[in-house]
Amino acid sequence: MTSRVSRAELSAAERALRSRIAQIASNERFLRGTLSERSSKCGKPNCRCANGEGHASLYLVQNHGGTVRQLCIPKMLQDPVRQAVGEFQEMQRLLHEVSELEWKRFLARKG
Ligand SMILES: [Zn+2]
Repeated sequence: MTSRVSRAELSAAERALRSRIAQIASNERFLRGTLSERSSKCGKPNCRCANGEGHASLYLVQNHGGTVRQLCIPKMLQDPVRQAVGEFQEMQRLLHEVSELEWKRFLARKG
């Protein structure tokens, strides 16, 4: 068995999954990690945060080879980063689905 698939052996559903993967891979930014919203007080006594809610900040948290690292995301990048994190998750979900189909194909062949 070669590792190459022929389009003919793929169901329409699997072809659609693979096209979506290719589309994300070539057109979208993606970032692995989880987003965490935190609020903090800046420490300035006259700031509005002293009495009320803290300043909201967004962090991207990532497990990197066993250690956790994080990035503080500036306001102007929050939307694109949220988008990129979503794309990564979708990509991962799609890859799992295709792998699952491959698993079933493999089982079917063995018998
Ligand atoms: Zn403040």
